[in-house]
Amino acid sequence: MNTSQLRQAILDYSEEIGIDKLGFASADVFESLKQRLKRQQELGYQSGFEKGSIEERTEPDRLLPEAKSIISIALAYPSRTKDRPANKKEERRGVFCRASWGRDYHEVLKAKLTDLDAFIRERFPDAETNVMVDTGELSDRAVAERAGIGFSGKNTSIITPEFGSYVYLGEIITNIPFVPDTPLEDGCGSCTKCLDACPTGALVQGGQLDAQKCLAFQTQTKDFMPEEYRSKIGHFIYGFDTCQAVCPYNKHMDVHKHPEFEPDLDVAKPKLKPMLRISNREFKETFGHVAGSWRGKKPLQRNALIALGNDRDTASVDEIISVMSNDPRPVIRGTAAWSLGKIGTEEAYAAIKDAMKQEQDDQVVEEMEKGLTFQEVTLTD
Ligand code: SF4
Repeated sequence: MNTSQLRQAILDYSEEIGIDKLGFASADVFESLKQRLKRQQELGYQSGFEKGSIEERTEPDRLLPEAKSIISIALAYPSRTKDRPANKKEERRGVFCRASWGRDYHEVLKAKLTDLDAFIRERFPDAETNVMVDTGELSDRAVAERAGIGFSGKNTSIITPEFGSYVYLGEIITNIPFVPDTPLEDGCGSCTKCLDACPTGALVQGGQLDAQKCLAFQTQTKDFMPEEYRSKIGHFIYGFDTCQAVCPYNKHMDVHKHPEFEPDLDVAKPKLKPMLRISNREFKETFGHVAGSWRGKKPLQRNALIALGNDRDTASVDEIISVMSNDPRPVIRGTAAWSLGKIGTEEAYAAIKDAMKQEQDDQVVEEMEKGLTFQEVTLTD
């Protein structure tokens, strides 16, 4: 089988195993990405979650010495749930971003890529390959852009004509010299909807992201969330995809092709109060299979407290007081105090003052003081 026959066979097989889009790219150095990453590093725009050096992220032959091509794949995921759970007063719900609604896409894409890899190796015994999904060094987006999967939007997502930007991406680097696909034309034009909608101005100079300001990143940190971002996350307890939701290319996109990505409402939009004291075992059983659990339960619990505060959920006050008084983790106690201050009942303020007398941790005391400043605002209003 020659490479052009193999190319076609790969395209046919990818359809058979439920890959929604597949493209081929050269394995040349990603020169403009390299320059952009260097600028981002200088400006301090990185999240700290990036894997590998800039060279490893932009030079495919560092990851596979004989690299000639990269096969890029995309799988579409839904953007709407079938039933919309009521956000009842007694049972406030948070929300995971859409990319974390179904089963962890890393596993699903890895399985497809592994099948594809075996298919290639069977037909091309000299094949050398390296399979990657998101957590690898290479930029999935840069590869997908070069392989003609979609264009890179000003919101930094890859936007496909068929599925909008609601796609997961993965790739295989190989030593097989496939004929590359042609990249798509930029489709943003003069639109600035995502830049205008971003609550923190994290999207800078169209196509660049200041990861430190990105709310999706902020929901994944483990320390106290800087106060300026807390009210802006609203109900999001993991990720933040407003820059995708406002994009005209996503307007009618809601693809339900993969049962694995179908959201379970009680996981994708979970009740917040029960999350505050969820055990490790329950957490693993309930949320362990979604991508949004990768940082463990603490960031999600912290964000659930913030979301309850943003909602001024008086029905949760007793539970939050208990968390503030008993949780061993300072980030959780302090955020609980902030949340109580936001909710702003007399009982909440009295509990903060009471707990402050016992609190030994300076940062938690600081959060308690912040919580009490809401009372001053309420009194002077
Ligand atoms: Fe491009 Fe507009 Fe979509 Fe932003 S919202 S990615 S500017 S088309």
